[in-house]
Amino acid sequence: MTGWLALAGCAGVLIGVLLTRTISSRGEAKNSLQLETYHEVSDKRIAEAVRSLPIGLVLADESGEVIYRNAHANSYERGPRVSKALVRGHVKDLLAEAAQGNTEQLEVDLFGPPRLRLRFSGRPVVDADRQIGAAVMISDITEEHRIDQVRKDFVANVSHELKTPVGAMSILAETLSVADDPETVARLSGRIRKAATRLGETVDDLLTLSTIEASEPVEFVPLVVSDFVSEAIEMCRDEAQIYEVALSGAVQASGSSGGLQGSDQVSVLGNRPQLLSALNNLITNAIKYSAAGGDVVVGLERESEWVDIAVVDRGIGIPEKDLQRIFERFYRVDTARSRSTGGTGLGLSIVRHVALNHGGEVTVTSEEGKGSTFTMRLPVVGSGS
Ligand code: ADP
Repeated sequence: MTGWLALAGCAGVLIGVLLTRTISSRGEAKNSLQLETYHEVSDKRIAEAVRSLPIGLVLADESGEVIYRNAHANSYERGPRVSKALVRGHVKDLLAEAAQGNTEQLEVDLFGPPRLRLRFSGRPVVDADRQIGAAVMISDITEEHRIDQVRKDFVANVSHELKTPVGAMSILAETLSVADDPETVARLSGRIRKAATRLGETVDDLLTLSTIEASEPVEFVPLVVSDFVSEAIEMCRDEAQIYEVALSGAVQASGSSGGLQGSDQVSVLGNRPQLLSALNNLITNAIKYSAAGGDVVVGLERESEWVDIAVVDRGIGIPEKDLQRIFERFYRVDTARSRSTGGTGLGLSIVRHVALNHGGEVTVTSEEGKGSTFTMRLPVVGSGS
């Protein structure tokens, strides 16, 4: 937003100079005033700055005739016919408004392709006390709008996620205050504890996520991948036991399936707590979304400059329509199931951020009813293997 304002301010100054020079340079050739004429008569530097502004600029003279359009403004007219008509229509309306001395701004969605959100801003151009024309600026605010939307959704989601357990605790406590038989008291207090744990987990995950997202400088050191992967597996042993799922590690590159320890010395430059937290989330999910008697395997495979850490389960799988969205904060495929397994919906966002912080990525393949494979790919440092 600040960047846009700065640009808009810059454009405003240029518009004044441009329009004044254009008008004063027209002489007899009033109707043939085009960009080329402007180039001939004006300062090349101003011309180049205006031409290359990353926002669209359309100028009209005092009679309402369009006398200049920079390259960016032209680019918005190259889309599908409907988009082109919309852009032209809004520019025309705003120029007409500006000619009446009115400053106006509006935002418009173009359904493309490509899908864009544009901000049109029309204003009169005044030299001394005299209106000498009108200008419309067009800026692409697609990304800005998307981030804004994500932020709004996030706040709404956080409120919802925190309100649910707090609401439950309040009702349970109220009921508890009038309960007299010990069995009811024990049951209600157990449910309050469960809601409090859930609240605590959500807050913990939110704090982890915000620390990881804050991109505060954290210590990155060379780490042997098989070491921290083994450590993450050990951290999840109890969970695997509770869910009656067999958990093991395998290193595909060496063809060994007997475990990770000592099999592959490939290293990455990383932050141990972050990587452990990411793997913990992937392995815990694999366990949680497997049926009793299932198995989860964590594999390591080196692919030239990359190392892939794959967490493979044969659990419930993920429907194709949800695959793109599961890395979003609070997104859950099946809210009921996820709640019953105690999920916060933040685990995979944490994984994605950790992978990105380490110059890598996380991908998923899955089939409903057959299982899922989450792969965290990280860049290798040195060549220890
Ligand atoms: P949660 O804390 O709810 O598990 P995550 O962000 O870790 O949140 O995961 C988001 C959603 O993706 C989960 O609610 C679940 O629906 C789905 N999911 C994640 N991992 C798996 C998996 N291994 N198998 C099936 N579904 C999964």
